[in-house]
Amino acid sequence: MVRVTTTDRRALLRAGAGIVASGALTTGCATAVAPSSRTSPPAARQTPAPAPAPLLRYPAQILHGPRDRPRVALTFHGNGDPATAHALLTAAEEHGSRLTVLAVGTWLDAHPALARRILDGGHELGNHTLRHLDINTMPEADADAEIRGCAERLKALTGSIGTWFRPSRAARASPLVERLARRAGYPHVLSYDVDPLDFTSPGAPAVVRDVMTEVRAGSIVSLHFGYADTVAALPGLLHELDRRGLRAVTTTELLS
Ligand SMILES: [Zn+2]
Repeated sequence: MVRVTTTDRRALLRAGAGIVASGALTTGCATAVAPSSRTSPPAARQTPAPAPAPLLRYPAQILHGPRDRPRVALTFHGNGDPATAHALLTAAEEHGSRLTVLAVGTWLDAHPALARRILDGGHELGNHTLRHLDINTMPEADADAEIRGCAERLKALTGSIGTWFRPSRAARASPLVERLARRAGYPHVLSYDVDPLDFTSPGAPAVVRDVMTEVRAGSIVSLHFGYADTVAALPGLLHELDRRGLRAVTTTELLS
């Protein structure tokens, strides 16, 4: 197997805006869950939230929060083995931390109870498209269906479409996707400024090291459910953030 260095992976990530196509890599953020038959959603227990107002002091695509407060947001691609989701949510809760989960719609179809599990733990839940396709390259109608399809599932399961949208297979949204997201009820696209490429399974120590090298107050960190290295890394990562005086909060809290 070809070893791909961190530098190579970062170059690939920049070139592909989040798509890593090399056969030597696990294309975690590019993995789609096969659509499954829908099960009846549980009764919504969340109080429907009002439509989110634009955070006027932030740009349409948010890469980080305020740099003058010692807080960060750990944001997760919500897809893959639900056991990893449970493990990461529980580890965060045991540490008194909160996560932001950008859920793939088909993942919610396959595991509808996870929506409530995430919110009941005090975490935040948002939209990561219906099928996790390369949304920036899709025709308008298809991209719109991807955003709205996930929003419908979030609404059915929780009573709210959530505050945050993150494009699939891309760190940033194209101008079209940004506009479609706004029209669907997401005033901001949630991007990030710290990316340890945990979906390439670099080993838990590398995930912790890469985050701690780049993170600072206000950072938004991109991480993934579905990967053993991320599960193994989270307790150590939270410990290191503590040592740095940084608290992991929801994205809404980070930006409030
Ligand atoms: Zn993703």
